Amino acid sequence: MIRRNQTFARLEGSYLFPEIERRKEAFRATHPEAELINLGIGDASLPVPAVVAEAMAQKSLEMALPESFSGYGPSEGLKELRKRIAHIFYRDDFSLDEVFVSDGSKSEMCRLQALLGVGLKVGVQNPVYPVFVDSSIIFDAKEIVSLPCLPENNFFPELRQAAGCDLIYFCSPNNPTGVVYSKEHLEELVAFAIENRVLIIYDAAYSPFIQQGEHPRSIYEIEGAKEVAIEVCSYSKLAGFTGIRLGWTIVPKELRYADGGPILPDWRRIVQTLFNGASRISQAGGLAALTTEGLQGIEENIAIYLESARILKEALVAQGISVFGGDSSPYIWAHFPGKTSWDLFEEFLEELHIVTIPGSGFGTSGEGFVRLSAFCSYSDAVKAAEVMKRKQELLIT
Ligand code: PLP
Repeated sequence: MIRRNQTFARLEGSYLFPEIERRKEAFRATHPEAELINLGIGDASLPVPAVVAEAMAQKSLEMALPESFSGYGPSEGLKELRKRIAHIFYRDDFSLDEVFVSDGSKSEMCRLQALLGVGLKVGVQNPVYPVFVDSSIIFDAKEIVSLPCLPENNFFPELRQAAGCDLIYFCSPNNPTGVVYSKEHLEELVAFAIENRVLIIYDAAYSPFIQQGEHPRSIYEIEGAKEVAIEVCSYSKLAGFTGIRLGWTIVPKELRYADGGPILPDWRRIVQTLFNGASRISQAGGLAALTTEGLQGIEENIAIYLESARILKEALVAQGISVFGGDSSPYIWAHFPGKTSWDLFEEFLEELHIVTIPGSGFGTSGEGFVRLSAFCSYSDAVKAAEVMKRKQELLIT
């Protein structure tokens, strides 16, 4: 019989969400009357714009007719969608050949690992979106270098620690800290990557939350980034496609291996081998989302999430709690020095009836923090803010 893939022995158990569920259920069993407010949620909760749903319905109906049925599309995605993405998000700074439509960024991360191969030294922010670590381990990374991101360093890692890395994952706006990196920080990152010949995988899943002109929405706003960075983006938080599935990836033609060979043709080969393209129905929705009407609907939804983030953040700040993120991000990273994340989780649950995510679940540098998410309903954000203000003393002591 086949032996187990040895890399599984290196993976840590995914205990975080099951443990949160277990504790929630235990609380419900002893407090059946309590109404829990879920601020742990990392999933979109607002519906997609109507124009998106209509386009997907239309495409589905076309599939039922012989004259309009369509089968496989290009693995790289429909031309019109790639063209629209290049235009809307990159002002036509990329050719169609450099834009790849995906079924979301999580699966794309694994295909990128397949591109880069085994035995890499990989730098990750700590705290970190766990997929960067787990997918690297599944693809047998030689070493994972943890780059602490703390209030003391403005959540920007000491890049020297990443010397010798083949690859750095970088996420802005960050999950879980909600921190958005400035142009100066990203310039430092790109300069480091150029000097040290490190590839950056830049996760911009939350970039639509960055308010116009505040900070770069794409790594390619930084000069030189095309030589060192792949950008992975998603419709999930942009337009509520978490259940529909759509995203895109930019692989610039300037990107080269250590021996000078281009990366782009190999990436195309990976995409054509491991992927048969995103669903035509999702892509129809994705195109509709990038029309004037679709973009307006997207903006309205993001404004609601950001307003929820603002009132949650304000409720914590009013009590003198150190809070990060939440301005150009749906996530709020609240710091309670001296407490453990799981104790904080319990306090929020028991005393405020609010579900959070313990920061330590994202890495050792998350200890003492909890993550609050504004992907809840607006009315839940208002309720949670009221509870936090009313029971102020519980959070401060
Ligand atoms: N990247 C980050 C930082 C995320 O937080 C998430 C989802 O929560 C993803 C990627 C996954 O996005 P997708 O739904 O496109 O797979």
